[in-house]
Amino acid sequence: MRIPRFYVPQPLVVGQEFTLPDTTFRHAVQVLRLNVGEPLILFNGEGGEYSAQMSNVSKRSASVMIEGFSPVDTESPIHLTLVQAVIKPDKMDFALQKAVELGVNTIQPLITQRSVVRIGKEQVDKKLQHWEGVVVAACEQSGRTRMPVVQVPLALERWLEMPATGTRLILAPGDFPRINALPLDLPVPIELLIGPEGGFTDEEVAQCIQAGVTPVSLGPRILRAETASLAALALLQHRYGDI
Ligand code: SAH
Repeated sequence: MRIPRFYVPQPLVVGQEFTLPDTTFRHAVQVLRLNVGEPLILFNGEGGEYSAQMSNVSKRSASVMIEGFSPVDTESPIHLTLVQAVIKPDKMDFALQKAVELGVNTIQPLITQRSVVRIGKEQVDKKLQHWEGVVVAACEQSGRTRMPVVQVPLALERWLEMPATGTRLILAPGDFPRINALPLDLPVPIELLIGPEGGFTDEEVAQCIQAGVTPVSLGPRILRAETASLAALALLQHRYGDI
């Protein structure tokens, strides 16, 4: 069986015993039923991962002994931001999960003219917490050693006002160049914009182009938003990263 991996956002020291945080305890003991002596892997997002063994398990808590550190690095050499228009919750979760597996570093949820899903001010924290949970689970599963950041949702206009340090791409169906036509020395970080279920309006695409965002197409078929992000991230990692 694969050794389970858990994210624990705190300092970890080899040779020290460590009480699992509540959420990790629930997952490790109540869900996976790990028992004393069983191995697990911990990572804290600072790079590398730690081998550990369950050292004490009780009804309400468990501790582990941290036995070793391995400086594994599964991170892509390019910094990628997915700027994803908020889509229906299950599709958004899918898009975020796949984006993490495909190595994105930052997720910027976006509110656009055709966004069907609206997030009230009072829901932002709850939404962020939920998305962060999806990201953590995907990191644990995929062997990532750094935790991607989920930003607070922003309206497209606000996002365009933020200074760009690398390359901004907008995915829009139409007569635009394909990803393999982009220069090989594309300035990084790469920020990739994907529209909601109903797409970007022509006005939004024009506004982005005006602001220096490069339009790219994924070919003649219209992909669902979550398919488009998955396909584009894989192509970008293939061309510039480590796939
Ligand atoms: N009805 C919409 C489709 C939206 S698909 C329209 O015709 O515009 C959702 C998002 O996925 C789009 O906003 C775009 O960012 C991306 N997308 C889907 N298919 C694409 C393609 N063939 N090329 C580029 N982007 C695409």
